[in-house]
Amino acid sequence: MPVAAAAKASTDRDTAREPARNGPDGPVVIAGAGIGGLACALALARRGIPSHISERREVFAEEGAGIQLGPNGTRILDALGVAGSLQPQTAAPDALVVMDGVSGRRLARLPLGDWMRTRHGAPYWTAHRADLHAALLKRVRSEPLIRLSMASGIVSAGQTDREVTAHLASGATLEGAVLVAADGIRSTLRGPAFTADRPGFSGKSAARAVIPAALLPEGLERNVVHIWLRPNAHVVHYPVRAAQEIAIIVVLEDQHLSEDWGAPVLPGWLHQYTSEYPPRLAELMGRPEWWRKWALPALPPVPRWVSGRVALLGDAAHPTFPFLAQGAVLALEDGMVLARCLASHGKDVRQALTRYETERRPRARAVVAQAEKNGRIYHLDGLMARARNTVLTTLPPETLMKRYDWVYGWKAE
Ligand SMILES: Cc1cc2nc3c(=O)[nH]c(=O)nc-3n(C[C@H](O)[C@H](O)[C@H](O)COP(=O)(O)OP(=O)(O)OC[C@H]3O[C@@H](n4cnc5c(N)ncnc54)[C@H](O)[C@@H]3O)c2cc1C
Repeated sequence: MPVAAAAKASTDRDTAREPARNGPDGPVVIAGAGIGGLACALALARRGIPSHISERREVFAEEGAGIQLGPNGTRILDALGVAGSLQPQTAAPDALVVMDGVSGRRLARLPLGDWMRTRHGAPYWTAHRADLHAALLKRVRSEPLIRLSMASGIVSAGQTDREVTAHLASGATLEGAVLVAADGIRSTLRGPAFTADRPGFSGKSAARAVIPAALLPEGLERNVVHIWLRPNAHVVHYPVRAAQEIAIIVVLEDQHLSEDWGAPVLPGWLHQYTSEYPPRLAELMGRPEWWRKWALPALPPVPRWVSGRVALLGDAAHPTFPFLAQGAVLALEDGMVLARCLASHGKDVRQALTRYETERRPRARAVVAQAEKNGRIYHLDGLMARARNTVLTTLPPETLMKRYDWVYGWKAE
């Protein structure tokens, strides 16, 4: 059933499941029940492969703010049987409106909504991260092939020719045929085996807030993704929770150094930046009662994603700046490809994982590089900013949007 049809369903239906003809010789252990870990387990179950997700946190508490889901992501949510239950919580914005964050002038209105759905066969959604996570979790909990253990952080792993053993902080162990490290940007398992560095700080941080849609300043459209471009800063806001709320994210040059996803922002911190913003944007930025911020990490491309029976997935493999709104979607894509590779290579797990890395690495690299490029373009100043604005105001909106066909047109199989 296409996403458009699934969206009308009040509950999710069973996904087509292939028999485990050919899967690995044992369950897949997954470190991390974030977006990537949950989606990976569902993609495996869809192919009849059992998994055990081991999550470090005791409970899922504050779960971030907005997440954008392009057609390459909503297509996967449909295949995983999650789109129907998530859809009532999402919004399907009509357009991406680009604003000059200095003058307050509108630069471009790029098509999303029907245009995206027609062009790519699946919708463009915006959602609260907590709603996306909850929809995946609900589906995982109803799936007999998936076990989920909370308060079960994996601290290290060992492997033989036949199996992999995950060591938990509690001293317990988990055995499986494969270990998937979906343990996020500060992955514990992406250690010496992958010769990867610990992430540093990029010198940028992002602050997020959510407000009732009724508080959107007059003149700003509710069902639209807005992006305001300023020298060394940009602000994005869009509808979430059935367009009843607006998620706001501001990215700034900032020396905030913390590994916390949700550091509270002190009153007045943002004001030092926003006092010179154009009136409507300044008004918007003054609306939230609270903000939380996180430092955007910087990590050179991870040299290897696979070590024997252990594979990295999601942010653990390819941390990305949120400037193309593809971090969560890349993790969904990884899960689909990993499940296909494991199902099609039978007991030859090493070959399956090598194929997964070969297929995914170029795609992830290209998306990460485009996100970095977008960040540079968003934050331009002076003459360069004027040249950017001229391009945005003169090129046809569809032409600008078609440049992202390679991102949104991706299909898992
Ligand atoms: C609390 C939180 C809030 C976020 N808020 C936003 C947001 O507002 N906007 C945005 O764009 N992105 C946000 N993100 C990031 C976004 O979800 C990810 O970039 C993207 O979804 C990729 O997902 P992932 O599964 O690779 O990583 P994540 O979604 O980060 O999930 C990683 C999971 O692994 C768990 N984990 C970590 N170490 C271990 C271990 N050793 N053993 C077992 N489990 C472990 C973590 O607790 C987490 O549940 C947030 C992530 C988190 C965890």
